[in-house]
Amino acid sequence: MPSYNPNSNIEDSIRWLPSPNGIYSPSSALASLRAHHHLVPWFKLVWFPQNIPRMSFILWMAVKGRLPTRDRIHKYDPGGITTCFICNSHLESHAHLFFECLFSRAIWTQLLNYCGTHWIGLYWNDFIAWASTHWRGNTPVIMAKKLCLMDAVYHIWRERNCHILKVPN
Ligand SMILES: [Zn+2]
Repeated sequence: MPSYNPNSNIEDSIRWLPSPNGIYSPSSALASLRAHHHLVPWFKLVWFPQNIPRMSFILWMAVKGRLPTRDRIHKYDPGGITTCFICNSHLESHAHLFFECLFSRAIWTQLLNYCGTHWIGLYWNDFIAWASTHWRGNTPVIMAKKLCLMDAVYHIWRERNCHILKVPN
């Protein structure tokens, strides 16, 4: 136990330890609650100044594998349909829906050709890792590639939802 000798000549005071100056502020409270993690490699692929927020959000969910695809829904609804709504022959997962399905692959082939990149035959997670490494910087060409990625993911997801919910898109 460290020794503690209170100084009776100094008046007691309240000190906010998370703040360097000892004074409470809402921002210091928020900073103390916030967990600090290293940036994931795909951070700038999803979040960049020229992004379209609603599309970045869907891409972020897709990269993290958090969109409610049928394989995920099946975990809490075992009686539900699990096949892809387009090809009706494969399990609807993030990897299948956004990259492996014939519909998605046709979109990617067109988009990658438009961006001057060829289909490189990677799976979803590998493609995200590859794009995170190769699509760096703020040149117009890189911005176009990133916007194509988020646009494709957003519209594939939107098309899927419109089809399932029978809503005209
Ligand atoms: Zn499919």
